[in-house]
Amino acid sequence: MTKKIIIANWKMNKSFDDVEPWLFDFKNNIKNNSNISDIVLCPPAILLDYIDELLLSEELDILQEKGKNIDDLSEDELEKLTSGLRVLNLGGQDCAANEEGAFTGDISAKMLKDAGCKYVIIGHSERRQYHSEDNSLINSKSLTALNQGLKPIICIGESLQLRQEGKYLDFIKEQIHHSIPKDIDIKDLIIAYEPIWSIGTGKIPSISDIAEVVDSIYNDISQNEEFSRVKNIRILYGGSVNLDNSAEILAINNISGLLVGGASLKGDIFAKISTSEIVSGNQKSFA
Ligand code: PEP
Repeated sequence: MTKKIIIANWKMNKSFDDVEPWLFDFKNNIKNNSNISDIVLCPPAILLDYIDELLLSEELDILQEKGKNIDDLSEDELEKLTSGLRVLNLGGQDCAANEEGAFTGDISAKMLKDAGCKYVIIGHSERRQYHSEDNSLINSKSLTALNQGLKPIICIGESLQLRQEGKYLDFIKEQIHHSIPKDIDIKDLIIAYEPIWSIGTGKIPSISDIAEVVDSIYNDISQNEEFSRVKNIRILYGGSVNLDNSAEILAINNISGLLVGGASLKGDIFAKISTSEIVSGNQKSFA
């Protein structure tokens, strides 16, 4: 079964003092079957390195308890062993399109990588709305992230007005075509379908409405020559996910995971969502 990806987006919430209690609650509620999903935490950027160090020091303790002499291990061996123990991967909430330079307040993909990230959210609707990010900027940011070896999680989704006018599928198609880099090798294309009207509102589309959009995204990319160098497509759902709806959403065909905002702020709830009973969707293979 393909692993699901469950992503926590803390947005601009939490500070240093909140991290250890959250990790404690998360770890106490993560079931043994957690290896059925890749779990990713996207905290504010300032917390990344701190969380990475906390996780690393716990991993080193585990290795020592198992009798490993960590001083005798090469950097590569240590990296392999500690990453094998890691239950929580890290991701950024955004990155700059430029590699480096005079861009006050921005954070580069390389900086995220150096702070322990494997993933980065790009084009969240809050960035599109409050920072006027358009598809072409999101495309450039995704390319920069890929060049640095990060997996971009590219967010797309319609407004309530577009949904009510019945124009949502065309709008999403447009977002896909302009925000996803073309003609490059992408091992894992991660798209988060997040209807804007569902984010933080408690309103969620019906299961068949989510399935309709997910199928449309899937077909649009898999049948398009311009994306022929994408090896594997993963589509996540985001928008008012909670413990009551997570398992049902994960069971939708071609859904590869969840992007969770508000419900990720509590470590115990997020752990339970991450290990919601997963009914294996019959994912189509994408060669
Ligand atoms: C989000 O911000 O990506 C999100 C899905 O938020 P929420 O779960 O709070 O709706």
